[in-house]
Amino acid sequence: MHSIGVDIGSAATKCALWDGSGIICCLTPTGWTPKESAEAAVAAIKEKAGIAPDAPGITVTATGYGRNVFPADKRITEISCHAAGARYLVPEAGMVLDIGGQDSKVISLHPDGRVADFIMNDKCAAGTGRFLQNMAVHLGCTLSDFCHIPEGTEMQPINSMCTVFAESEVVGLLAKGVAKESICAGLLDSVAQKAATMISRAGGSGDICFTGGCAQNDMLRALIEEKTGRRVVSHALSQYAGAIGAALIGAK
Ligand code: ADP
Repeated sequence: MHSIGVDIGSAATKCALWDGSGIICCLTPTGWTPKESAEAAVAAIKEKAGIAPDAPGITVTATGYGRNVFPADKRITEISCHAAGARYLVPEAGMVLDIGGQDSKVISLHPDGRVADFIMNDKCAAGTGRFLQNMAVHLGCTLSDFCHIPEGTEMQPINSMCTVFAESEVVGLLAKGVAKESICAGLLDSVAQKAATMISRAGGSGDICFTGGCAQNDMLRALIEEKTGRRVVSHALSQYAGAIGAALIGAK
């Protein structure tokens, strides 16, 4: 049996295919029309798995902010899907931290993996991937540069809590000649601080599975670990957690 999960996010559409024993994944930028991005992602995952486009008996489960525009067999909330995907990737985690393109969330899990509670920030861009994307534009750098800050770089604290004011602060710092790497480190610290505050509000003490596109940044992961005193674990497939969870739930 095959089950496809498609996570239609603000920045990227992630697709996962579960064949009963393993997972394969693919990603496509969401672009302007989430429905078309999801169709392209589902077609791409079938091609990658060697499944005919019109093969029968495949369940497609949609999640993410664009899930309602896509004609899937099932639609499941991001919270349930991220919890199920994180459980698959990091079975020992008791909490999930998801930092995606336009929101961030902390999900507390019961010992059996069911969702116990969650806190979500979807009102403010600060503390999300969009914050880093906007800042990268002002700094003339890429998201990959945020992942390669040289060890020993002095961190330039960013004081503004709001994305718009932080942009002005960054422009001002560049004008003063502050090194880009130091500003990047300060911006990551600011995102880490917001995540740590959400984690502390949620409470608990176990390991945390870090999901979403921002989980690819190991310095961000380490900063959150330092601020919370808890083990924060990323997985090579962390950005696909929602799609993986959708595929697993769809298979049930
Ligand atoms: P969404 O579901 O909203 O589309 P994702 O979980 O797919 O969000 O994550 C997208 C975000 O991941 C982007 O906004 C970007 O900031 C961040 N991102 C992508 N690649 C990297 C990277 N290499 N390092 C850090 N962050 C990244």
